[in-house]
Amino acid sequence: MIELRGLTKHYGDTVAVDHLTFTVRPGIVTGFLGPNGAGKSTTMRMMLGLDNPTAGTVRIDGKHYRQLKNPLTYVGALLDAKAMHGGRSAANHLLCLAQSNGIPRARVAEVLDLVGLASVAGKRSKGFSLGMGQRLGIAAALLGNPRVLLFDEPVNGLDPEGIHWIRNLMKNLAAQGRTVFVSSHLMSEMALTAEHLVVIGRGRLLADTSMAEFIEQNSRSYVRVRSPERERLLTMLYREGMRVFAGEAGALEVDGVPAERLGELAAAERLVLHELSPQQASLEEAFMQLTAGVVEYHARNGGGPPPTVQGGGPVRSAVPQGAMSRGPAPDGWGTDRQWQRKRS
Ligand code: ADP
Repeated sequence: MIELRGLTKHYGDTVAVDHLTFTVRPGIVTGFLGPNGAGKSTTMRMMLGLDNPTAGTVRIDGKHYRQLKNPLTYVGALLDAKAMHGGRSAANHLLCLAQSNGIPRARVAEVLDLVGLASVAGKRSKGFSLGMGQRLGIAAALLGNPRVLLFDEPVNGLDPEGIHWIRNLMKNLAAQGRTVFVSSHLMSEMALTAEHLVVIGRGRLLADTSMAEFIEQNSRSYVRVRSPERERLLTMLYREGMRVFAGEAGALEVDGVPAERLGELAAAERLVLHELSPQQASLEEAFMQLTAGVVEYHARNGGGPPPTVQGGGPVRSAVPQGAMSRGPAPDGWGTDRQWQRKRS
């Protein structure tokens, strides 16, 4: 278990980590999410005693990292896969770590086999590809058979096979009862790996929730309907008390009603539909929306204004007020602001 209480880190005027309090539990993969510059690496470095907090504490199984005897047997970490002596062979690199942590040398061959590097055990790591370097870093993390594992952006730069492998490895390690904490700036990746999520932005905690809850709260499902008789369709939807939003190209988006019901209603009114399609807003979009205000660096196109969240997503403009006054939908997702308030 990893426990953070009020963990804070300042670099000069920069507040990299701002009063973080959360607990990472064993037996599940916990995803640590946030845009680039959110403070994820700094938090992980403090967990490992590599940076001193400005304030607050972090405990691993009740102890500060520096109080751990033979720390690799408690905590394994992959922070920077390139942080190794390139002139050493993979096996020698691991042997040095094993010897300084009281780990039997037989474990070196075991972990090399586990990460698929047995055939290059005698090769110098400076000739390794990015993926092989990641695997060697993971072998080092597993060397002491630790109960707690930290991985900082482990899939960065990996090919699909490598990503698949790391994902399964993390799940298996958690299933063995270990604490697995893995950072990423990609929601889509975490959705496939983590059971629990900790989301930060500008060093602050934004969410600490199960993945299931995050999906339920943040991904909106709706039905897109288009008709050449848009006004009649709108009248019908409002009469039925449905929540309606203006979509693209004249489409209407209806929340909380199955497509079948809409189709039947339209048929009863002899209303022609050109589209009736169930939609699911992606988690990636929900995550971008959650962290939109706390992204440190925005890409800018030419001299134009700063971009907002791209690609539509769950937040939509409401149907103009005039149109809404025809009927109910009082508790509807009226505007972007309402959606955000309701969600938080
Ligand atoms: P993330 O891992 O989420 O991308 P980081 O922890 O690397 O974020 O960075 C958080 C903030 O702290 C950023 O503003 C970054 O520029 C700053 N920062 C990180 N490390 C240092 C450092 N050693 N010195 C000064 N500022 C730093």
